[in-house]
Amino acid sequence: MTGLASSPSRPTGAAGTTGAGMTSDTEDTTGTTGTGETSAPVLEAVGLTRHIPMHGRHRGQSVRAVEGVDLALRRGQILALVGQSGSGKTTLARLLALGDRPTAGEIRFDGRQLDAARGRDRKQHFSHVQMIMQDPFASLNRLHRLRYILSRPLRNFGGVGSAELDARIIELLERVHLTPGREFIDKYPHELSGGQRQRAAIARALAADPSVLLGDEPVSMLDVSIRLDILNLLTELRDRDGLAMLYITHDIASARHVANDIVVMYSGRIVEGGPAEAVTQNAQHPYTQLLLAASPDPERLLAGDTDGTDDASDASDADNNGGTGTTTGTDRLDAARDADANTTDAAGCPFRARCPHAQPICAEQMPDPIDVGSGHWSRCWLHR
Ligand code: SF4
Repeated sequence: MTGLASSPSRPTGAAGTTGAGMTSDTEDTTGTTGTGETSAPVLEAVGLTRHIPMHGRHRGQSVRAVEGVDLALRRGQILALVGQSGSGKTTLARLLALGDRPTAGEIRFDGRQLDAARGRDRKQHFSHVQMIMQDPFASLNRLHRLRYILSRPLRNFGGVGSAELDARIIELLERVHLTPGREFIDKYPHELSGGQRQRAAIARALAADPSVLLGDEPVSMLDVSIRLDILNLLTELRDRDGLAMLYITHDIASARHVANDIVVMYSGRIVEGGPAEAVTQNAQHPYTQLLLAASPDPERLLAGDTDGTDDASDASDADNNGGTGTTTGTDRLDAARDADANTTDAAGCPFRARCPHAQPICAEQMPDPIDVGSGHWSRCWLHR
């Protein structure tokens, strides 16, 4: 096994190259995942860090909401960012969308470094990178018909004139399988089902003609019966239109279904990454193993993961709180309990408080990413 910290440079070639690096409590670190392709990243984070000042007894310290994250999104690829509520996934998505300013690190679009403080960068970025939010009920203005909701990004970002507006809106609606589009164009959001509303929200994102979609738990508030339809739509947009996508989820089983690569986030750090099959079938980091155990996947169990069966029963109280992305009921999965281990003053692995394999060194230093084979890596002293 080769420690990626010794890599001569950050990975920029392999598809789905992702990693965690440049933590303030560790040496320069880099992680890599990939499926072997070499297309250049369209959206990239390099050493991205966001520290949030704390109050009360932690006054004067900051929490590491995002710490030294390296990510690369590539056209025609879905990268899944998996972690429980409070792990920093949404903060990372906001940084990537230039909705927040990083404490350190860079965001690059097509290789060019962006500045979240520059209005021009932000305006261009909003057309290149669109977000799909978790709640389709809140993300569409219920006072307007779809015609108006979809016309705004078409006019603002695409300069589409009145003469062709209806045709373009119908085309967008049919692209997300709201067909026939002319029957939906005059509907209000409240006249749509949850799945139709999320399709309309995706159509609005597509209206800006983006290269990148950031989906923040895009199916977790939907009825279980229609989640698969929306996930299939996302994979269709990847495969047919070549969009780059970040699929943010707490559900590692759904990540396996849609993603080319998966990275797992815990307390602001990416702790494991690699091709989706490798991460879900052969998880190396204790936290990923715990996530998998709490999210039994029939295909994984049929593949012979008997350990996963036992662990799943151990963690069977890890219920998903109504699909809102909030995990409740399991102390072992309660990220909030790690607050003390995740301040800027704290050293070591933030997972150590509940890790069954913790060693003395885990309290002293966060391990560098270690290659465990075929583009799969993990940040854990167990792989030393
Ligand atoms: S580094 Fe140590 S505490 Fe962290 S996951 Fe690995 S063994 Fe557990």
